[in-house]
Amino acid sequence: MPIQPSVIIAGGGPVGVIAALAAARAGFRVTLLEAAAEVDRNPRAATTHPSTLEMIDRVGLLDRFMQEGLVARHFQFWDRETGQMVAEFDHGLLANDTRYPFVVQTEQHKLAAMGMEALHALPHATLRQGARVSAFSQDALGVTVTIETADGAETLKADWLIGADGGRSMIRKGLGIEFEGFTWPERFVVLTVLDDMQALMGCALRVYLAGQGGEWANLFKVAGDDGKGRWRAVFPTRKDETDEAALSDAGAHARLQGLCPNPGGYDLVHRNIYNVHQRVAAKFRVGRVFLAGDSGHVNNPIGGLGLNFGIHDATDLVDTLSAHVFGGAAEASLDGYERRRRSLNIEFVQRQTTENKKRLEETDPVERAARLDELRVTAADPVKARTFLLRSSLIESVRQAAVIA
Ligand SMILES: Cc1cc2nc3c(=O)[nH]c(=O)nc-3n(C[C@H](O)[C@H](O)[C@H](O)COP(=O)(O)OP(=O)(O)OC[C@H]3O[C@@H](n4cnc5c(N)ncnc54)[C@H](O)[C@@H]3O)c2cc1C
Repeated sequence: MPIQPSVIIAGGGPVGVIAALAAARAGFRVTLLEAAAEVDRNPRAATTHPSTLEMIDRVGLLDRFMQEGLVARHFQFWDRETGQMVAEFDHGLLANDTRYPFVVQTEQHKLAAMGMEALHALPHATLRQGARVSAFSQDALGVTVTIETADGAETLKADWLIGADGGRSMIRKGLGIEFEGFTWPERFVVLTVLDDMQALMGCALRVYLAGQGGEWANLFKVAGDDGKGRWRAVFPTRKDETDEAALSDAGAHARLQGLCPNPGGYDLVHRNIYNVHQRVAAKFRVGRVFLAGDSGHVNNPIGGLGLNFGIHDATDLVDTLSAHVFGGAAEASLDGYERRRRSLNIEFVQRQTTENKKRLEETDPVERAARLDELRVTAADPVKARTFLLRSSLIESVRQAAVIA
């Protein structure tokens, strides 16, 4: 019996889970190691773009992913100063570009959970929750990984290691790779309400609101674990505002009422606050070890691009490794992964999310009006709108990846 090529994946977030499923389906023996005993259910990413839906389909999860989420064909930009919609974009314009001309809003913990369930059904895949990678090394023959579990330390061996262990990645740090970029001075507050914002405001299921005095907002609907629907509103903290003030009842309700007055008061069910960064790892590969997802790049969430790009990393990496291991591609072809993912992250994710943030937070009246007018003109012209959507949905990034060797 030939020995089956093997891969260890550190980190069972959505990127690690998709990488594990894709690798197992490609023929690798897979071990997925997740430090936490359970999937993290805190509100994080939800917006899943057409190009990513195609990848979720490839690993066999799309039907369930769509059942557990909400289909959103349109998204909108609003102006908080006038309380009016500025522009609406219709993914239907991408009907000839993708099988899925819409976005699906499914919370990321659902993707991780359903992916873990699917892994259990694959005979050569092993999922270990409560297994934290604490050390690793590599030589010409393979990688050696040490894990800490409730039963003590253990050593595992494989041919390849994927670090999908999030923004604070110990794999990235262990490789001595610089996380280049910066951290924004403000933090982002996320407030989840049960109120029907579509009924209150007459908006789409995903809305980006340009600031009033710079205080922008994002608003989007998710299904929730009960399927009954809930809305998440994201705001920047103000200069000198403490976390306690931003998260207090008074602070949270004032923000929500400022977004849209609700005479009955908001049914606020969750609140959190987090730091926001724009950073890209200086390298995505060192020998037999690769970075994918947040371990390789982090960005502000305006536009919903970070997790999507991470899933693209996972797909690209498994295709690249498979072509080398099973298809006879030269070892040097593995560097193509870094060439594609690093440059495309800078071009499509770092640049777009920074532009998105600047557009919404602009306070200079002339510049602000110009940015909003540009959106109006773009949305009104089907050719321009399609070009805009090809970038915002990362289809253009996938097309460019195909021509970077
Ligand atoms: C609070 C918050 C809110 C966010 N909101 C949004 C949003 O609204 N929209 C958006 O697009 N993006 C958002 N993001 C970003 C988005 O959540 C990430 O892009 C996404 O989670 C990346 O997935 P990942 O699998 O790469 O990393 P993660 O989801 O971070 O998963 C990494 C996993 O690795 C595990 N791990 C870590 N260290 C080890 C180790 N040593 N050994 C084993 N396992 C380990 C962790 O437990 C974790 O499960 C948010 C992020 C945060 C933190």
